[in-house]
Amino acid sequence: MSSCKEIRLILGDQLNHQHSWFKSNDTSILYVLMEVKPESEYVTHHIQKIAGIFSAMRNFAFELEENGHKVAYFKINDTNNRQSFAANLKSLIDEHGADKLSYQLPDEYRLDELFKVEFPKLGVEIQAFNTEHFFTERQELKEQFEGKKTFLMESFYRKMRKKHDVLMDGEQPISGKWNYDKQNRNKLPKAHIPTTPKLFENDVTEIVNEIDAAGINYIGEIKPKAFIWPISRAQSESLLQYFLEEMLPYFGQFQDAMSNEYWSIYHSRLSFSINLKMLSPHEVVKQAENHWKRNTDTINLAQVEGFIRQILGWREYMRGIYWAKMPEYATLNFFNADKKLPQFFWTGDTKMNCLKKAINQSLKHGYAHHIQRLMVTGSFCTMAGINPDEVDQWYLGIYVDAFDWVEITNTRGMSQFADGGIVGTKPYVSSASYINKMGDHCKGCHYSYSKKTGEGACPLNSMYWHFLARNHDKLKTNHRMNMMYNVWFKMDTAKQKEILDQADQYLEDIENL
Ligand SMILES: Cc1cc2nc3c(=O)[nH]c(=O)nc-3n(C[C@H](O)[C@H](O)[C@H](O)COP(=O)(O)OP(=O)(O)OC[C@H]3O[C@@H](n4cnc5c(N)ncnc54)[C@H](O)[C@@H]3O)c2cc1C
Ligand code: SF4
Repeated sequence: MSSCKEIRLILGDQLNHQHSWFKSNDTSILYVLMEVKPESEYVTHHIQKIAGIFSAMRNFAFELEENGHKVAYFKINDTNNRQSFAANLKSLIDEHGADKLSYQLPDEYRLDELFKVEFPKLGVEIQAFNTEHFFTERQELKEQFEGKKTFLMESFYRKMRKKHDVLMDGEQPISGKWNYDKQNRNKLPKAHIPTTPKLFENDVTEIVNEIDAAGINYIGEIKPKAFIWPISRAQSESLLQYFLEEMLPYFGQFQDAMSNEYWSIYHSRLSFSINLKMLSPHEVVKQAENHWKRNTDTINLAQVEGFIRQILGWREYMRGIYWAKMPEYATLNFFNADKKLPQFFWTGDTKMNCLKKAINQSLKHGYAHHIQRLMVTGSFCTMAGINPDEVDQWYLGIYVDAFDWVEITNTRGMSQFADGGIVGTKPYVSSASYINKMGDHCKGCHYSYSKKTGEGACPLNSMYWHFLARNHDKLKTNHRMNMMYNVWFKMDTAKQKEILDQADQYLEDIENL
């Protein structure tokens, strides 16, 4: 290989074909991608997450080469792989006599800090580039809310709609309403069969064998000959098209629904592709808006608004919170929760049907949809008082789409309320009545959703009140909790004691629930 003056590092979640780096070919530039052990082991990841990222990286490198770029790739077991970014880069710099190292800004605080410390030691000029992926700059949300105590997602979302002219009619939202959330809270009707999710059948056997040979610990299942996640831009585009045509007409309406039988309902399952940057949020939002405009007879505005809010609103908002609040954010523990995560989170072996379904499908597919993450597993951990560090580790490991910036803000913030209300205005906790309202998990469950105490009572019912009672001091000034505290304080003390005793009993025996 002829020598290169500049080395450009591309991380596993920076597979952005549309980046300006690739607009022209320059043989004095060497692009480098590397599979390094520390990135595969900082938590125990799902095997589908590791195999999916490695496969997508290898495809990306191959496509760059096909397009005439020069590429160096370190596979996990390559003998020249020194298993560290800096060490591998150093060997390339020496080999090529390069005098410049460029990289795209990492989305993860840990890597951002690491690169700032390690790269200047390499003795060449260093330049950091924007990833050209997000709608917002890292510090944009922080600046927007400067001096304010709370960061309201709805205000941010409306600004984004205006700024990027999405679903707008001049200065006003199309049809006069910003938000259709209230229309989007239906369970699946009895005989309704959702569209089958589009699954790929990628053969990743070789990569799984290499992961095994490297001795990387992992969790979860995989079918190496029929790997379901998209591992290239072309597959990501086809998943997006499938979503627009087949799922979008029902997306908003059944966004919060849960089901014993259907694991992704009408959710897009695009997060893996978007987070790896194989798809850009701009194109996903624009294509959704345009598709809706062409099909207003079959897709109503509530469906597409619900979808766009997740990407233009929530996703960008979470990234903004991350950069505004790290590194402190990763240490927040508002309720001082200190319990261990029950073992059944790793096995799915629990009698609680809602948790069993959510955990088992997570182990099987590396995926659960938002309401399962928030209102089933997340709510359980909040009510049980599980240490948010343990909760973070689980979410960061188990989901194929889990990257620190979006995992921690959703888990520690939105789901665990460990940030004391930066992301959410109240803790998301649910008793059986919510789970029963939104799906069919309670039918056939070992526990009875209608019982708070006594033989077979649903554990979530008493845990719900236990959580409110033990955290009253911390939540009493939150006006969104008033209604529930009024119900609690109107209950007679004997009933309260019975519920708290029941919850204590369950929490003491948490491993056997
Ligand atoms: C406890 C918890 C942990 C989570 N961890 C992650 C994570 O590690 N990575 C991740 O990408 N999302 C995470 N989310 C957000 C959300 O659950 C997932 O983005 C979504 O389930 C991915 O599936 P989907 O692509 O089918 O989403 P859809 O329901 O089809 O939504 C479309 C897209 O909107 C975006 N989106 C939706 N909700 C959010 C949100 N709250 N924050 C950011 N983006 C959102 C995603 O890009 C998603 O692909 C978490 C949510 C909770 C409650
Ligand atoms: S009864 Fe309780 S544990 Fe069982 S599925 Fe319903 S909410 Fe979950």
